[in-house]
Amino acid sequence: MWRDAGTGTFLNPGVLMPTRIQSLRLQAFQRQCGLCFYCSAPMWLLCPSELPGCHPAQHAFKQLRCTAEHLLPQSEGGLDREDNIVAACARCNHTRHQRKRPPLPSAYREEVAKRMRRGCWHDSLVHRWLSLISQLAVAAAQPEVVRTR
Ligand SMILES: [Zn+2]
Repeated sequence: MWRDAGTGTFLNPGVLMPTRIQSLRLQAFQRQCGLCFYCSAPMWLLCPSELPGCHPAQHAFKQLRCTAEHLLPQSEGGLDREDNIVAACARCNHTRHQRKRPPLPSAYREEVAKRMRRGCWHDSLVHRWLSLISQLAVAAAQPEVVRTR
């Protein structure tokens, strides 16, 4: 089993070393601070429970599994190289490549951003969770109010 020295996470249970694509996915995940290239949602690598408040049995959170996304699709000659791989959640990656001709990354990113603002891209449970963690982040960033009475 191979364990990442930085994060301590197991990348490929049962295999001694990660594959090239797994290494590229992890590098992209770290470069992007764990956020999806398209929807900016936090992603998980091995289990949804890596995300605060997420339970592995909650099917909706499977959408947030980190995948290696080829900016230039493999079907169009895109290679497994650092400059062609970003980290994207399973929902964004699969939806882009379900189309006959995947849209350009910049156009797709704008389309996903619009749907994210309307709260209609991920499962409704995921959107509620994203709203909650964003409120918690805002609250944590507020200076503590000192009560004098
Ligand atoms: Zn995404």
